[in-house]
Amino acid sequence: MTETFRTPQAAEASAPSSGASYSSTALPTYPYEAPASQALFDRASEVVPGGVNSPVRAFRAVGGTPRFMVSGEGCWLTDADGRRYVDLVCSWGPLILGHAHPAVIDAVRAAASRGTSFGTPTPGEVDLAEELVARTAADEVRLVNSGTEATMSAIRLARGYTGRTRIVKFAGCYHGHVDALLVSAGSGVATLGLPDTPGVTGASAAETIVLRYNDIEAVEAAFAEQGDQIAAVITEAAAGNMGVVAPHPGFNAALARIAHQYGALLIVDEVMTGFRVSRQGWHGLEPVDADLWTFGKVMGGGLPAAAFGGRREIMGRLAPAGPVYQAGTLSGNPLACAAGLTTLRLATPEVYATLDATSATIRDLATAALRRAGVPHRLSTAGNMFSIFFTDIEVSNYLDAQTQDVAAFRAFFHAMLSAGVYLPPSPYEAWFVSTAIDDEALERVSAALPVAAAAAASGRTAT
Ligand SMILES: *Cc1c(COP(=O)(O)O)cnc(C)c1O
Repeated sequence: MTETFRTPQAAEASAPSSGASYSSTALPTYPYEAPASQALFDRASEVVPGGVNSPVRAFRAVGGTPRFMVSGEGCWLTDADGRRYVDLVCSWGPLILGHAHPAVIDAVRAAASRGTSFGTPTPGEVDLAEELVARTAADEVRLVNSGTEATMSAIRLARGYTGRTRIVKFAGCYHGHVDALLVSAGSGVATLGLPDTPGVTGASAAETIVLRYNDIEAVEAAFAEQGDQIAAVITEAAAGNMGVVAPHPGFNAALARIAHQYGALLIVDEVMTGFRVSRQGWHGLEPVDADLWTFGKVMGGGLPAAAFGGRREIMGRLAPAGPVYQAGTLSGNPLACAAGLTTLRLATPEVYATLDATSATIRDLATAALRRAGVPHRLSTAGNMFSIFFTDIEVSNYLDAQTQDVAAFRAFFHAMLSAGVYLPPSPYEAWFVSTAIDDEALERVSAALPVAAAAAASGRTAT
């Protein structure tokens, strides 16, 4: 094996090619047990429900002890037991430049030294809003603290603007833990296998019409029946929370056409895709005539910042310009704006070329290893986002995604983990790359994959 990996960035960083070949030292074999993480998890489980502050972190889909991370540098994570992992989660998407990028850290440090929050408008918010408006099709944006807040507020605004109540969403699309949107909501819920979500009232679920992703006839039918009551259709720009499932060509455009025909709005959720798949987000790959967009993840550079935005006429209905109320004590926080703005300003076309190339390298390695080991799988991509479904059918929607062999994924995941590669601990999540992935990391991933593919082959559910 003498393949060499040259991401544009790595090629720049180290001029003479190292001609990477895999030595045994490239591949650690960490034991299944992780005593320091286990001790922390035991403590956490006493004081935090399930020991985690967001469900998918708990490893319920894969079993074992969730790893408590203590530091990150570039594409490397270090856990409480001192083990190093190549990070293919990137905080679930935000960290396109990797961990602790020096310019981002400097910007946050400088902002912090000026004070952490004022409860007044600040210059950084204007800079970040201008950057978002310059990159996207939104005329105006409102900054919030999480993707959930962004979608929740966009839904309220759509209802306030149209005077209607119903929302159309797609099974397997996740838009945060908003009551009305936590119906057939993909990854976190799928991972836990919850049949529904106690605490969401029947009344709020009843306002949500759940349709099959990529099924435009179902959308036509729903609008034909109740079009005059539908405030908005909300869709992920490209689905990334049931694993990655790209919209079929023309699907998003048809959503805009049908919604507008009935006087409803189209909300495109770019919280995951925004500023990751291109400079403009998914809009840069497939411009769609939406009315509102939601952003998060990358635009916060690893700190809590998100936004929703859209046509001026609609955004003008928000308080204090208009009657639809929406607010936040820490919205537009100076540290978050500094991290987000610095990340976006560094996210040049070269950065996107690097992300695309690195993503292609890793998915080629993964599918080659699985093919050689005879593990049924489907690679699914949407721009530089991808996931691998452990199934042998083409995946267009959530039902298809659920044909996965979870046992095979579990074996695969743990083999990667013990070889020092941190994958999303669920078969319903995207793999995320950063520009910080270097040759050493690619060598490790490349050496780990055949081992993990073999584990997946023997871990398959007998049929
Ligand atoms: C992550 C995500 C959200 C929720 O964002 P949070 O910041 O976790 O609240 C909403 N929509 C999509 C598409 C996401 O991927």
